[in-house]
Amino acid sequence: MFNVLAPTLGSFIPPVAAGACVVAAGASCAYYATYAVRSQWLGAADWRGREDTSSVALTFDDGPGEDTARVLDALAAHGARATFFMVGRQAERNARTARRVAAEGHEVGNHSYTHPIYLYRSARETRRQLALAQGAIEGATEVRPRFARPPCGVRSPAYFRAARALELRTVQWSVAGFDWKPIGAREIARHVLKDARAGSIILLHDGDSEGKADRRETVAALPLIFEGLKERGLKVAPLSRLLGIGEAAAELR
Ligand SMILES: [Zn+2]
Repeated sequence: MFNVLAPTLGSFIPPVAAGACVVAAGASCAYYATYAVRSQWLGAADWRGREDTSSVALTFDDGPGEDTARVLDALAAHGARATFFMVGRQAERNARTARRVAAEGHEVGNHSYTHPIYLYRSARETRRQLALAQGAIEGATEVRPRFARPPCGVRSPAYFRAARALELRTVQWSVAGFDWKPIGAREIARHVLKDARAGSIILLHDGDSEGKADRRETVAALPLIFEGLKERGLKVAPLSRLLGIGEAAAELR
């Protein structure tokens, strides 16, 4: 259904379709936005980084949670820096882990306070979600997020207004590990490596917005992903560097 709808209707997600998808997937994130994540219709959103590099960015959503420590261990073992789009409430609950994320040189982003689909929330609630998450993440990590990624990648006009007010840059993704599905580590790695190329922003998860799924398959996929990226001559870079923000991107070449 979405394969047909998304390209035909431009990239905005029709509420009816989105609603159907949310229902179809129960309360979990349906990821119907896979085809719409590149939309610039409602506001600017980065979905890939510089292509004149030999690097990709790894991003982890929905944490911090119980499995975040193991993700951090795997990143440390490969000397890689990633970006964690944290859910504010999770950052409060797991403040020590959140602090470790920042202390180990990873970047943090705003992934809302309780992981709602902004399309179904009022402008006031959307503003509240973003502001609360900023405070919670900064409180736990001592770093104020500069990036935001809306839950399930679903944006609304109110979301962009709120993000702009907080000077948050919206970052989607170009490659997904599909680790929200019940698939194993090899399959997750295969999804990532199939599409990874210079400039890719890769979506994975270190937590679950429902708080019920563990991320052991994602953790197990990481060594396979690092190995595959290396074979393709691709390095892992922090998101800000891949987007050409701040430090000189010359190091990427
Ligand atoms: Zn999410």
